[in-house]
Amino acid sequence: MRDFDGAAPAYVGRTDGPAVFDYLIVGAGFAGSVLAERLAAGLDKRVLLIDRRPHIGGNAYDHHDDAGVLIHRYGPHIFHTNSQPVADYLSRFTQWRPYEHRVLAHVDRQLVPIPINRTTVNRLYGLDLDEAGVAEFLKSRAEPVADVRTSEDVVVGAVGRELYEKFFRGYTRKQWGLDPSQLDKAVTARVPTRTNDDDRYFGDSFQNMPLHGFTRMFENMLDHPNITIRLGVDFRDVVRDVRYRNLIFTGPVDEYFGHRFGKLPYRSLTFRHETVDQEWFQPVAVVNYPGEEVPHTRITEYKHLTGQTNPRTSLTYEYPSAEGDPYYPIPRAENAALYRKYQELADATPNVHFVGRLATYRYYNMDQVVAQALALYTRIAKAEGAVAEG
Ligand code: FAD
Ligand code: UDP
Repeated sequence: MRDFDGAAPAYVGRTDGPAVFDYLIVGAGFAGSVLAERLAAGLDKRVLLIDRRPHIGGNAYDHHDDAGVLIHRYGPHIFHTNSQPVADYLSRFTQWRPYEHRVLAHVDRQLVPIPINRTTVNRLYGLDLDEAGVAEFLKSRAEPVADVRTSEDVVVGAVGRELYEKFFRGYTRKQWGLDPSQLDKAVTARVPTRTNDDDRYFGDSFQNMPLHGFTRMFENMLDHPNITIRLGVDFRDVVRDVRYRNLIFTGPVDEYFGHRFGKLPYRSLTFRHETVDQEWFQPVAVVNYPGEEVPHTRITEYKHLTGQTNPRTSLTYEYPSAEGDPYYPIPRAENAALYRKYQELADATPNVHFVGRLATYRYYNMDQVVAQALALYTRIAKAEGAVAEG
């Protein structure tokens, strides 16, 4: 297999002539890798999977750092799902390490549980309320919001303005560069409010980390003779040279179409990875910093996720930014409207499927991307069946 080079100014793939590959898949994250595996193993398709990064796994990529700690290059990725089919599918490629994620927030010079729960309220206010007492406490502070539309409405409507300001306003302004009142309710609605002692970040039925890491899981998924992988390769640079029948694109949808309706806003992050000369740095894997007096949103300590023993410990600080690699679609009405214009174009583009967090502009977790990719595979398989039968 030759390496591809040569620049092409626009995304105009060659679909004429005999196809070398049945599918060209752009992006080796969850969306691209699940489809590569399914098409290769399930439908016997010949797949070329490319990524402009030098590794597979997309944003879930993990690797051992110089201290030997398994770290996540693009920030903490915790696997959780309520979908048994998604868990079953991934379980073909990895064993799991039981792990329930717990997060503390740095508020009023203390570390208290987030999601806000009974412990949080009692600790912050010096109380000893039971579950019913906490429910009553929060109800007395919650501001009724007739029409919950924004990320501010969700939280103020559940816990009142003071707790909103302590836990959500600053964090959200740093993370998104927007006030919560400017963001869709779906953003802060990801974080529940509890009145009991449950201090897990997620409530999902399946919460586990891949035993040997995400990258190993991806390697197992992509280990198939029908799959060719090319890394450090941008679609733009190879599209003219590769022969393929169908394209699956998992990069930013606006980039695919040359930003013709304008740029879709994506929020970026800068990650500062460091190893410190002490066994442990913080009591849990993630500590959130909602205060605007520090620029980072959270610090992750990976050994809590992996269970590794090591005399040193590795951390990642996250600094949100407007510029840089696209990590988060920004959920707000005007962005959704702009995305719909791209979606119409995407729907009208034959032989090209758009899938994943960037290509469908959805604030999806890993399991949702796997489910979306498996659903697309089912549609492709059905269509193939229809052709075969016809
Ligand atoms: P990606 O992983 O972004 O993969 C897309 C790939 O396409 C990239 O590798 C990119 O390099 C490549 N690409 C794009 N354009 C081109 C091009 N033109 N040519 C070649 N290659 C291209 N989810 C959870 O479930 N739990 C978590 O704890 C969690 N934490 C997260 C923390 C952070 C900081 C971030 C940013 C996300 C987190 N997520 C989490 C979400 C998770 O990362 C995504 O749901 C998932 O990785 C998306 O997979 P994807 O394949 O759609 O996209
Ligand atoms: N959030 C917050 N304070 C917190 C945790 C979350 O304000 O301590 C808000 C913030 O807007 C964040 C959103 O809730 O972006 C979703 O949080 P989540 O932890 O799901 O973010 P992700 O892991 O996707 O970055």
